[in-house]
This record gives sequence, structure tokens and C-alpha cells, in this order.
Amino acid sequence: MTDTAPALDRRHVPADLPPRIQHYIDGAFVDSLDGDTFDVLEPVSNEVYVQAAAGKKADIDRAVAAATRAFTEGPWPRMLPRERSRVLHRIADIVESRDARLAELESFDSGLPITQALGQARRAAENFRFFADLIVAQADDTFKVPGRQINYVNRKPIGVAGLITPWNTPFMLESWKLGPALATGNTVVLKPAEFTPLSASLWAGIFEEAGLPQGVFNLVNGLGEDAGDALVKHPDVPLISFTGESSTGQLIFGNAAPFLKGLSMELGGKSPAVVFADADLDAAIDATIFGVFSLNGERCTAGSRILVERSIYDEFVQRYAAQAQRVKVGYPHDPDTEVGALVHPEHYAKVMSYVELGKTEGRLVAGGGQPKDFAFGNFIAPTVFADVSPDARIFQEEIFGPVVAITPFDSDEEALALANNTKYGLAAYVWTNDLKRAHNFAQSVEAGMVWLNSNNVRDLRTPFGGVKASGLGHEGGYRSIDFYTDQQAVHITLGAVHNPTFGKQDHFTEVDLDDPDPR
Ligand code: NAD
Repeated sequence: MTDTAPALDRRHVPADLPPRIQHYIDGAFVDSLDGDTFDVLEPVSNEVYVQAAAGKKADIDRAVAAATRAFTEGPWPRMLPRERSRVLHRIADIVESRDARLAELESFDSGLPITQALGQARRAAENFRFFADLIVAQADDTFKVPGRQINYVNRKPIGVAGLITPWNTPFMLESWKLGPALATGNTVVLKPAEFTPLSASLWAGIFEEAGLPQGVFNLVNGLGEDAGDALVKHPDVPLISFTGESSTGQLIFGNAAPFLKGLSMELGGKSPAVVFADADLDAAIDATIFGVFSLNGERCTAGSRILVERSIYDEFVQRYAAQAQRVKVGYPHDPDTEVGALVHPEHYAKVMSYVELGKTEGRLVAGGGQPKDFAFGNFIAPTVFADVSPDARIFQEEIFGPVVAITPFDSDEEALALANNTKYGLAAYVWTNDLKRAHNFAQSVEAGMVWLNSNNVRDLRTPFGGVKASGLGHEGGYRSIDFYTDQQAVHITLGAVHNPTFGKQDHFTEVDLDDPDPR
């Protein structure tokens, strides 16, 4: 499709965009050492609007050196939790006070609808607030062996954390890693997604204003295979927290293996939304529409496979398709927009290829291409395929766009088998009014997170993460604190020293039968 000038004229370009996007290393904005840059596009016109510094190994080395210095010599890891917590609360206050500007920039750079970008900006503030609170409430275990020993956990920050993030909700996902990594006293190097570097460049100013010491936060922009790869392979970065595609996660897993790094992997998904005949159908339809079309369908936990009990299947498909057709596609900056523009022409081409494939694998009942009024940029109409067979590629593969596959089932057993029938295991959504069925299904489904009669509403205290190809490890609540800290065990003798004596000439050593695990 060719772009149409009048429509493009109605797009919104924020005032005061930065002239270029740089790295932020050791408290200063800097270009790449080799001066290299890459193009950044905005997704309504696909025009290049800014150049960003393209970081390479030398830039990562510089950033890691600064973060290492801040860790070994700076105040941050040694500050009281309350002092770090105050800085984190100030960060949250600043993010909240700038939520409209953050949303404006994020929406412009990523194509996310402005109302949803605003929600993500507020969530970013909440992530900082949550970990600020958690770190002062943190308690560690002490174990007493009466009369003999006291053993306690000495929790410590680990060092330089490498944070690698995707483009789908850039600022919020960065906060999800920055919050706990900083709260626990680590220093960081962030490598944000190359499609969407704009909002990440705001962290530096926010952190400076909040009083984060110099060198604690470092940011290197660049391509995954350059800057990301160098961060993963840097010997002085003991931790990598990665969110992105499962295939990238596999590559990083291999690249980090020689260094035995701590890894947290939040990866792709193809999550089922299962609708039983006894469900509240109005609520289930609203939720399953929102579940796959919010955030432009670029959502790791999207319910992108809807499994529907046969007795309500026809009615469900007909009502679902009708509602999907009413979902409002529009300019990202328009507050009425429900689905904006996909992030980048490469991603648009990928999603469109699945839309075309779907026409051969299922029955198209809504969408199927660009909307009539938005036949330019990266817009795609909410697209619904019914009667999709479980071996279809659009049933099995993550599309990461506004595209959903609907499949019927006849029994609870079949629903469960279908739900588990992909390599992924991130989220699952179940709609039924039968309490026993809901819980039994939740406990059997292969998913890291399950919502029963609910949309994707998160509680930050709960574990977040996937099973199978959807991830490794869980963050969320104290699990994030665990990932970003070492838990050293300290053992203290209280009574007589408990010591088998080796090397005495005049008697042989007896094995202590009271100590079952003499490691
Ligand atoms: P991606 O894997 O292409 O890129 C993610 C990040 O990794 C980017 O910053 C990229 O530059 C970097 N990267 C790429 N190759 C690298 C390498 N060899 N070494 C180091 N870093 C490298 O993912 P994406 O397309 O940006 O994001 C979409 C994916 O993210 C989807 O699969 C989605 O499901 C997933 N995701 C998962 C979650 C979750 O919490 N489970 C949340 C959001 C997105």
C-alpha cells in the first residue's frame, strides 16, 4: 500500500524531540566510540526521525567499567535499604509527574495507543515504588540450633547486572528490571531494544534528578548482535536479565554458559484463553478481545489462541468477530484509538505474512489486512481466524500482532490437551463458572501464570514468568530480590567447638553420627 499524504499530515510529532539519541555512561551522554549510529523510525509513516548511537563491544566495555567502579567504590551497594528506597520513591514520583510526556514519546516511538502507553508509564512508576517498599520490608532467615549454632542469611548485591529489553512496552519493561536490580544495590548496564530507544534515554535525567549516584545506571543503545551480545559475553557482568524472543533467549543461554552467569529469561508466548459453555459470555468476549488486541497484540501474555466449547462455538465466533470489527484502529496519539500501528516495518511484514498464511489455515472472520482508513504505515486491522487446526502454524507460532486463532473443543480433556499443545507456556486464561473445573484446569495447564475469569491483571507480589519455551526462572515480588542478590549462609558456633580432630597420633578420628550432612 502506498502512503497517503493527508493521512500522514494528521499524525502527531511530539515537540522537542532530541536531536540524537546517545549512550549514557558514567553520568554523561556520549556517542559510540566509533561514531556509528542507526536509524530510528516512527511507525505511522516509517520515516526515520532520529539517529541513535550504535553501541559495540568497546562501548559496552566502557559502560561495564563504569558500573564496576560504581559497585566496588561507590556508595550505592553500601547504602542502607531505606536510603536506596528513598531514591527509588523519588524516581517513581518523577515518572508519575511526567507520565503524559512519557506516554507521548512512547506512543510516538512504538505505535502504542496513547491511553495504553499512559497506563504503562504509570506501571513503570509503580514498579519502582513496589521494589522501594519491598527492600525496606526485606527480612532474611536466621536458624537456631539450640545450644550449638546460629546460622543466618547475609544477602548481598551481586555486581553489574546486564539488562536486555524488548520493544513492546519499552519503558515499563525496563522499569521491571531496573527497579529490583537497583533496589538491591547492584549497578546496571541497560541495553534497550533498537526499534524503540526514545523513552529509555529519559531514564538518565530522571535518575540524576532523583539522586542516583554516578555510574550506577549506564545505558548502551545498539543492535542485539553487537551491543547485546557484548554485554552477554562480558566477563564482569555476572547477571543477565533478558526479555525477548525465545530463540534469542536460547542464543543468550548458550553465550552466557561459559561464564556460568545468573540468567532470568522472560520469553515468548502463545497463550490459550479457554472458554467453557457455562462461562459469563459477555465478560469472556470482552476479556478475550482485550487480551489479544491491547498493546497492538504485541503482548507476551496475549491470549492469542481462543479455545471454545463446541456448544457455544458458533455464537462465540459470530459475536467475537463482530466485536473485533468494531475495535477502533487509529493514530497512536488519538485517545479513542484501541489498536495503533505496529512498531516497525520489519515486524509489520512478519505479522502480515501470518495474516496471509492464516487465510490458508483458517476461516477469516474479521480483519485480514490493513484497515481501509489506515492503509499506510504499520497498521493492521484486528484479524480473527476461526476453525484453526491445532497443527496450523498460526496456532503454534507466536505472531505478536493483532491476530487471533479460534478453535473448538468437545471436552475438558480435549481443552487441556489443546491448551498444552504448543512449545510455549507463559499464560493461560480460563472462563467457566464451575469452581472445581477452573481449579483443576489451572493446576494442569502448562503455564507460568493462570487467570481464572479474569483478564491479565497483575499483582506485583506474585511470580511472573513462563515454563517450557516461555522462560527460565520467575521474577516478581521477593523472587526478583532473590535473582539480583547472593544469599550467603553464615554459620556461628555458640557452644563448644564441634570439631572432629584430625591428625592426632594417639587416637583415630570418629565420624560424627550426630551430623547427618557433614559437607
Ligand atoms: P528480541 O529477542 O528480538 O530482542 C529483545 C532484546 O534482545 C533487544 O534489545 C535486542 O536488541 C536484544 N538481542 C537480540 N539479539 C541478541 C543477542 N544475540 N544477544 C544479546 N541481545 C540480543 O525480542 P523483541 O522482538 O524485541 O521482543 C518481542 C519478544 O519479546 C516476543 O517474543 C515477546 O513474547 C517477548 N516478550 C516476553 C515478555 C515476557 O515477560 N515473557 C515480555 C515482553 C516481550
